[in-house]
Amino acid sequence: MKITPLAADSLGARSMATLVETPDVTVLIDPSVRLAPYRYDLPPHEIEEDRMRSLWRGIRDAAKKADILSVSHYHFDHHNPDAPSLYKGKRAFLKDGKFHINRSQRERASAFVRALKKYPKEVQVSDGNALDIGGTEIVFSPAVPHGYSDELGYVVMVRVSQGDETFVHTSDVQGPPLKEQLSFILDSDPTVLYADGPMTHMPEHYPEEMTKRSIANLTRILRSTGIRTLIIDHHALRDREWRTRMAPVLAAGEAHDVRVMTAAEFIGKAVDQLEANRDRLYGLEGRKPDREGGPAKSPFP
Ligand SMILES: [Zn+2]
Ligand SMILES: [Zn+2]
Repeated sequence: MKITPLAADSLGARSMATLVETPDVTVLIDPSVRLAPYRYDLPPHEIEEDRMRSLWRGIRDAAKKADILSVSHYHFDHHNPDAPSLYKGKRAFLKDGKFHINRSQRERASAFVRALKKYPKEVQVSDGNALDIGGTEIVFSPAVPHGYSDELGYVVMVRVSQGDETFVHTSDVQGPPLKEQLSFILDSDPTVLYADGPMTHMPEHYPEEMTKRSIANLTRILRSTGIRTLIIDHHALRDREWRTRMAPVLAAGEAHDVRVMTAAEFIGKAVDQLEANRDRLYGLEGRKPDREGGPAKSPFP
């Protein structure tokens, strides 16, 4: 099984887009990439815009080889409604747009399905779905909360197993802090787990208690499964001090002989946290305020 993170916060933009290739099937998970509209009260720097465009080209190229495209939820860093032709001739497995979803994502889901039109050769709801292709098994989790509550909606995790390898992609569980997120991972007994990690850079939105729970859950996974590699990225990598915040997880990796690394390191590249370093890109280090939101701006020309 070949696992290739295509874009990630450690590669300079928000994404968990991943290509998974087995001898039987090629799956592209969450083909999109975006930038934080505001960080340190600053809009994206042009270095970030350039990086996002180059990562997007990589996702587009990878999509050509994929048989299956999946969407874990309808945040724009996980699905790109401006590029529906990516799905041409593919099997699409999409997060349920009607149940276990919040209002903003319900609206985005129906707009996305409308935009896809006749491009995919097949569209299925992913929540709780499973399929076998040759010797490869693909299992989608039931919808689980996007974080520690369902305020931001729900996401679908995905597992791909072939031979003695099992890959699990958590999408935006923001940790995982919750039992229902943890249990799908433990039941999957992954050899490689790609987790998004807790959102430590925004303590006012993501309480310290949830970071503790996420660290305890990740540590338990390292201790009690057959995991060989933990990829930690996305939310965790929005914090410049992620290695300090995740120190117990890095230590548990050492103790249990598990590689703990970012998506960038997993593909042999240097970590480049452009969003976390946006203040430095502008030469404005020392600025304090971090806020999400701000005016929406499509990064796709
Ligand atoms: Zn999300
Ligand atoms: Zn995300």
